[in-house]
Amino acid sequence: MKLYSTNDKTNVVDLKEAVLNAFPKDQGLYMPVVIPRLPDSFFEHINQFDFAELGFHVAQNMIGSYIPEAALYQLIQRSINFPAPLIKLSEHIFTLELWHGPTMAFKDFGARFMAELMSYFLRNEDRETTILVATSGDTGGAVAAGFYKVPGIKVIILYPSGKVSTLQEKQLTTWGENISAVEVDGVFDDCQALVKAAFIDEDLKSKYNFSSANSINIARLLPQSFYYFEGYKQIADKQRPIVYSVPSGNFGNLTAGLLSVEMGLPVHKFIAATNENKTVPNYLETGNYEARPSVPTISNAMDVGNPSNFPRMKALFGNDSSTWNLINKKVLGDYYSDKQTLQAIKDIKLSYDYTADPHGAIGYLACKKYLKEFPDHQTIFLETAHPGKFNKPMEKAPGGLNQPEKLRAFMSGNKISIPCSNSYEDFKALLID
Ligand SMILES: *Cc1c(COP(=O)(O)O)cnc(C)c1O
Repeated sequence: MKLYSTNDKTNVVDLKEAVLNAFPKDQGLYMPVVIPRLPDSFFEHINQFDFAELGFHVAQNMIGSYIPEAALYQLIQRSINFPAPLIKLSEHIFTLELWHGPTMAFKDFGARFMAELMSYFLRNEDRETTILVATSGDTGGAVAAGFYKVPGIKVIILYPSGKVSTLQEKQLTTWGENISAVEVDGVFDDCQALVKAAFIDEDLKSKYNFSSANSINIARLLPQSFYYFEGYKQIADKQRPIVYSVPSGNFGNLTAGLLSVEMGLPVHKFIAATNENKTVPNYLETGNYEARPSVPTISNAMDVGNPSNFPRMKALFGNDSSTWNLINKKVLGDYYSDKQTLQAIKDIKLSYDYTADPHGAIGYLACKKYLKEFPDHQTIFLETAHPGKFNKPMEKAPGGLNQPEKLRAFMSGNKISIPCSNSYEDFKALLID
């Protein structure tokens, strides 16, 4: 499997290089050179595959023989070992629950697959690898869970102090062993900038073997395409158009959806549903991409002002003067305030007796709006995390906060974090220490 950098099409690497060295020198992002279409027979037989088998076929379609079949199969069996059920709320609205993994957010898919893939690539290495990961809430916990006690790998998580939920913070800071958490006095974009700066720091590179676990890592994106197929599989009526509404922050999830379409999945449209951090919906409306500082909201995992996967989305639509037109044919933008989000959580409970989390609720609102124009289509909003992860907004919701045992177990752990300012000098000193 070959990948090119979005900043230089001639910069081509293989999958191992792209996964272990996720930032190309030209500061682009790696994308597959070819994304083969799956054969018609795959779609005809899609109902016969369980989720992991389905993931295996999709992965093999992209990765080919680069990883031996038996190894790839095992890697997927181990990482995709929890379901993604499609719940029918009405004839027109479904939700795909992506939170059945160990940290109860969809990030578990990408993080677990990436951990397995990195371990596979590093199986014969004797040098320790340090994984740096900036998180707006859920990535860090999922990455920690994926790499916990994996020999030869150290994980350093950066998160914005006071801007993640209590539970999310516990999922970042209570591991110990090979996992450490840096509590940055700043916003998510600061954390992301610190990680990027460390990667291009030649001085650090000579001392450490760094890798990144952010959604810029292509190993995170590949498995995220699996569940778009899994959702499609579970829809009974495959004739009516299917629309995926994707609650978005860094836009890794939506990019993975676009990859699944390249592979032939019949998705009619995607909705890029955001909170007030609406850089991409604005771009879709005006054609101008204007990065903004992130604004804190109750759907905090989407508080991203400069989405890191945006160059990948553009790359999939040619990255030229016609990109904006093409992207608008496939992706619609929509955004909602905190007030609307809280109201939506109530409405979903009252109308369908279903509890959505604040991120999923934004996806739901986008479905409702879409259906006003296209009432006979089928919309699926991704339920990206379990509502029990978001204590503050959910305490006010009908039915209150409900935390499954898996989450309560995290709450009883002891927080250990390393405080740091948002200046690179401080962060570097801390790394070297
Ligand atoms: C990360 C996350 C998102 C945003 O996903 P992106 O791939 O960054 O767009 C949405 N909801 C939840 C719960 C998340 O953890």
